[in-house]
Amino acid sequence: MISPKIQDAINQQINAEFWSAYLYLAMGMHSEAEGHQGIANWFRIQFKEEQAHAEIFINYLLSRGGRVELKAIDAVPTSWESPLEAFEHTLEHEEKVTAMINALYALAEQEHDYATRGKLDWFVSEQVEEEETAHNLIDRLKLIAGDGLALYMLDQELASRVYNVPAPLAAK
Ligand code: MG
Repeated sequence: MISPKIQDAINQQINAEFWSAYLYLAMGMHSEAEGHQGIANWFRIQFKEEQAHAEIFINYLLSRGGRVELKAIDAVPTSWESPLEAFEHTLEHEEKVTAMINALYALAEQEHDYATRGKLDWFVSEQVEEEETAHNLIDRLKLIAGDGLALYMLDQELASRVYNVPAPLAAK
């Protein structure tokens, strides 16, 4: 059994993960339309990862005898001024997700739900990685500034990113 409070909070988080997926899919579409195929690939993989995050929470809620409620997904922006702006938005968004995961963690402690708290440990580490990656790409895009060749090279590099099923989902 899982408390109604935790169940509601996890359902909220499932919605937030799907919204993230939607956001990165939009960034992928936009990047592709702008001719940045590698950046588009990076965001499309990010889209898959966010769907996986939602699935991890779905599987967890079901394993605890909870009920999953799939809520409406809000619309997302459709264009960004530059790759730099897209990654700045990515970082800003991931910082919000980190705050949500932390709030969920605090709620699990408050409710003495140690199984949920334990499940969240992976997400806490994942958020560190998400923010670090976004920071790193922002730094590199700032260095690149208006240099087309350097942007081309970064785009080529991001084209090689491949999707790996996140560990908690792969283990399922
Ligand atoms: Mg996520």
